[in-house]
Amino acid sequence: MTLTPIQHERYDRQLRLAEIGIDGQQKLLQARVLIVGVGGLGSPAALYLAAAGAGTLGLVDSDTVSLSNLQRQILHSTADLGRPKVDSAAARLRALNPDTQLLLFPERLTAARAPALLAGFDFVLDCTDNFPSKFLVADACHAARIPYSHAGILGLTGQALTVFPGRTACLRCVFDPPPPPDPAAGPNPVLGVAPGLFGALQAAEAIKVLLHIGTPLTNTLLHIDLLCLQFRQTPVRQNPDCPLCGTRSTLKHPTDHPAHA
Ligand SMILES: [Zn+2]
Repeated sequence: MTLTPIQHERYDRQLRLAEIGIDGQQKLLQARVLIVGVGGLGSPAALYLAAAGAGTLGLVDSDTVSLSNLQRQILHSTADLGRPKVDSAAARLRALNPDTQLLLFPERLTAARAPALLAGFDFVLDCTDNFPSKFLVADACHAARIPYSHAGILGLTGQALTVFPGRTACLRCVFDPPPPPDPAAGPNPVLGVAPGLFGALQAAEAIKVLLHIGTPLTNTLLHIDLLCLQFRQTPVRQNPDCPLCGTRSTLKHPTDHPAHA
């Protein structure tokens, strides 16, 4: 696959990067990334991946656009209110870069559907906004042996971890058991720039892993507090007792969390 003159011009600034160049761009144009959730994290992640010329983006989201989304979910506009998020996301991404093929899944990721949804993708971005979904992404990626980027946001803080299933610390190595659901809790407070920052980080992790460049955020939990602009990296390691990737793993197949089913 050779780049067209238009692609040379579109990607000129990143073709000049020694880490990318024409070879890297060709790889990127053939890469397939699944984005689970096109909200606060998924918006910047999808925009930057499409802008960079990721060949195929799969978008998974069962929601429609509501007014309270627009404070942070920058893929969607006021004119999109009530529209399925995957549709408004696709319209925005197609307008940005017709090179990127889009596969739309207007549904929630479930344990039953996960194998079919993940099949054929090279990397997965966990851009969900709740713990049950995050653990399901981790479990499904482990079962499919697909590397993924985890990110989670609360208020003006966020955390991120990249995982190569079976080879580096996974979400359950670090956080198992998942925190119990709090039925009395309302929507989490969040400043839009927090998922904006972390979604962009997830796109960078995807590009690095797809092109085998740099050092991925593996075995290191990154925590950022925007209020005091503190960045903290905590070393984490694979837990031999991890129920997912440990030596006596008990989670052989992804299952829906009771609060998620
Ligand atoms: Zn683990």
